[in-house]
Amino acid sequence: MKLEVIAVGNEVVFGHTINTNASLISKKMDELGIEPCYHVAVRDRQKDIEQVLEIALNRADIIIFCGGLGPTKDDLTKEAVCKFLNKPLILNEEALKDLKAFFRIRNKNMTENNIKQAMFPSDCFILKNNFGTAPGCLFNLDNNKYIALLPGPPKEVEAMMEILIDDYFLKLKTYVYVTEEINVKGIGESLIEEQNSDLLGIFEDVECATYIAQDYIVIRIKSRGFSKEDAQEKLNYYKFNFSERLKEYIIGYNS
Ligand code: ATP
Ligand code: MG
Repeated sequence: MKLEVIAVGNEVVFGHTINTNASLISKKMDELGIEPCYHVAVRDRQKDIEQVLEIALNRADIIIFCGGLGPTKDDLTKEAVCKFLNKPLILNEEALKDLKAFFRIRNKNMTENNIKQAMFPSDCFILKNNFGTAPGCLFNLDNNKYIALLPGPPKEVEAMMEILIDDYFLKLKTYVYVTEEINVKGIGESLIEEQNSDLLGIFEDVECATYIAQDYIVIRIKSRGFSKEDAQEKLNYYKFNFSERLKEYIIGYNS
């Protein structure tokens, strides 16, 4: 399954906020064997959000938005997505109750514009937010694609990803992945590639690539299997062969 992460926010697109949410979300989904394929960032504009959603629905199976679920007028991710999906927003009593409790516990007044944070279409799963006011939500569309809407603050994203994974995405887990790296020094990347072309590249369950780190080269081996042992066994074949061929250059391993 292919994943697309869409960050919504002027501050991200203009470069004031680094898109760490995309990194966090991708890492977590990659661990489940859901393939991170695209990172997109858009401004807080309804048209732009609808446009990227249309593109994402044509190329990804799981689309995770982050940002733009706040109470203010410029927070319009949910409005844009629901308009595109043709799903009217209605007040959700349970979400409103949680929102009121959030303010009561903190001795703060809830303002009128917060109410829009408790509005959701009738056919989505609401994701509780224990660290902020904006609940997230998840749509499982008829074509079995998923669209999740998460808030912007990284702490909230992290907590909500746990819920999403435990309650919804864990069941989609297909493969277990294992990654190991071999660090070599004293031989160039191109020579490594020339001498090991049979081991480098994308194979059915294993992917091997080199990259340059400071003053040495890293050979990264990533494999997948139906269990950790299965994935490890597949990885070991490549690790063994690289290790044999490059033994005088190896300076260490990372796993
Ligand atoms: P809020 O209720 O805080 O407004 P929100 O869901 O509307 O929540 P945003 O306004 O989009 O979220 O973002 C709130 C803060 O979260 C931003 O100021 C920024 O610091 C952080 N943030 C937003 N998007 C990202 C991102 N993609 N990566 C990292 N941090 C982000
Ligand atoms: Mg906001």
